[in-house]
Amino acid sequence: MQIKSRNIPAELRVLESLNGRMAFLPEVDRQLRNMRDGLAGECRLDLALESVSDCVIQISDFTLARNQLCQIDAVLVSANGIYLLDAKNWSGRHTVGDKGFERLTNDPLDQLKRAEKLFCRMLEYERIPLQVLSRLVFVNPEMTLYGVQPEMPIVLPQQLPEFVSEIKRHAGVLTEWEMRVAQRILAKHSEDNPYRLKVDYTWETVGKGMLCTSCRRLLVEKSHKYMWCPVCQVVESKGAALLRTKAEMDVLFPGCKPEVDRLYRFCGGMVSKRGIFKATRN
Ligand SMILES: [Zn+2]
Repeated sequence: MQIKSRNIPAELRVLESLNGRMAFLPEVDRQLRNMRDGLAGECRLDLALESVSDCVIQISDFTLARNQLCQIDAVLVSANGIYLLDAKNWSGRHTVGDKGFERLTNDPLDQLKRAEKLFCRMLEYERIPLQVLSRLVFVNPEMTLYGVQPEMPIVLPQQLPEFVSEIKRHAGVLTEWEMRVAQRILAKHSEDNPYRLKVDYTWETVGKGMLCTSCRRLLVEKSHKYMWCPVCQVVESKGAALLRTKAEMDVLFPGCKPEVDRLYRFCGGMVSKRGIFKATRN
């Protein structure tokens, strides 16, 4: 069971809403792609873990912010131990050796080791007597990793089903005690992340209009009920495009009232104020 489910990270929602509305620096573009890939990988991991949902308690996207930051994609609490899983959605060919992954400045094995250390220190402090097993889980079948040694804390895509079966075999029976342990761990979760990428934008600098979901170009009116993307030829009802655009405005400018006039301006005047009033009055 999950006691903390996976959400789209706030910074990813901001970047997705800004996408197409301003020019991104290359590093922001890269960050957006990495975050999308990362989330897709975490969702793949969640899917693989579905079969153990009755014998472990899952805490997704756990962040322990003490002096250092420790982020774990999935913490699984079972009667016989705690699993810390970091999902990697890499594709292509990669090589790992005694000194870690080649051509990487932030080695995920080092990060995993550091996360485990911080996590174990927290367990010790909390007097939670459970063993911890951490694994880097590669979830994309279109990846080849050279140089993996059996002692490395790595699960390859083809080993994932076996790894999940093993968790199931060793999990034991969940009781109130494990639930209390999981709740105590969850209480240590922090929403703060000082490493969040900041993108500067204001109402004036953000491009207005209703944008296509896939290519993020401006939609054009097809009829009084439908919008249309001249690039991908996608047709969307005006109502759906309007609610989607409203959601983007709410992400970028939270707290401001969803006034009809404001949304009208954010939509670039592509829907009448009357239409906006009708669609958003609930
Ligand atoms: Zn399009």
